[in-house]
Amino acid sequence: MSATINPLANPKGGKKLCELCQKPAYLQCTKCRVTYYCDVAHQQADWNSIHNKACELLILIRSPAPLHSWQTDRDHHHMQTQKRLEQLMELSHAESKRRVSEGKYEEALPAAQLSLRCAMDVYGPNAVEHVPAYLLLAEANMGLGFLSQAEGYLSKAQWTTMKTLGCSQVILHQLHRTLGRLYTATGRYRSALLHFANDIFHASEEFGLNSVVSAGGYFLMANVFVKEEKPDIAISLYSQVTSIWHMHLSKMVEHYSQRGTQGEQHFDEAQLAEVDQMLNVMLEAQQQGVNTHQSAMLSHSLGQSALLSHSLAMFWFLCRDHSKALDFGRKAAEFSRQCEEQNSLAESIQSLIQEVEKHITIQQIPTIQQ
Ligand SMILES: [Zn+2]
Ligand SMILES: [Zn+2]
Repeated sequence: MSATINPLANPKGGKKLCELCQKPAYLQCTKCRVTYYCDVAHQQADWNSIHNKACELLILIRSPAPLHSWQTDRDHHHMQTQKRLEQLMELSHAESKRRVSEGKYEEALPAAQLSLRCAMDVYGPNAVEHVPAYLLLAEANMGLGFLSQAEGYLSKAQWTTMKTLGCSQVILHQLHRTLGRLYTATGRYRSALLHFANDIFHASEEFGLNSVVSAGGYFLMANVFVKEEKPDIAISLYSQVTSIWHMHLSKMVEHYSQRGTQGEQHFDEAQLAEVDQMLNVMLEAQQQGVNTHQSAMLSHSLGQSALLSHSLAMFWFLCRDHSKALDFGRKAAEFSRQCEEQNSLAESIQSLIQEVEKHITIQQIPTIQQ
């Protein structure tokens, strides 16, 4: 798929171009009649990614301005179009992001492209608002193994942020995190570490040094040290991430028990997959430590395994998967029993297990009565 992307609007009277590859088009979407494709494969790919949701909005966006009307009518039409473009930009960004988090990179691409084209139409060329779409395009391409395409989008993003005065910390943190990921994938570990350090710096400015957002940067940095076969540095960074997440989840559970907010969604799908994977990677690393370390490190690894299993138990409790919560709760209790020292931790593990068991019993009642 071409990396060059043209603005969204089809030039008036100009040649019709394919929505996906911008080559001459021979097919038209029969529903909206304002979107064109070079072949059936591209039409199908766009439909599956975003066009099924964007089709109707595009009719309004691409319909020409009223011709012989008053200036005020034309201004109104322009404002409406801008609003719809922003709406479509957000919709396609969200759709693409969801696909990336599900690992459906191929399907994420057309939606990310559409999001970029909307941003171009709304904010004009070289605007910092293009960066979120560049990052998504980079992530999707990285997922597909197209590393040079990913690098292309990231250099555009880097260039755009360099030209922007007062660029937001959030954008800079996301940019450096994606660059760090790319350099990790290409084996350029020194550069990866430098970008993760920048990622953590900007994330800390916005969210605080001990926030879970900054912890994401420490985790990715630790993974690079694992690849570089420096397990001691990795383990010490993992411990920092563990303590941040353990504290964060403990607060969430406490908040949940006080307010009893049933049905509240604590993590979206993308976070769910990411947090689950991260906590499990660290738990595995600590368990390896339990198996291989001498007695000096054993107690540390056991303590960390207890914290991580407890974190996973709290995480699944908040996600209302009570059987997983119970499994990890029991694991946590076992680790904490083995390392003996942490009494307050043992107590909170026990009270979580009791809470989870209550939920499991409640859920079972209707089936028992039948
Ligand atoms: Zn095409
Ligand atoms: Zn259509």
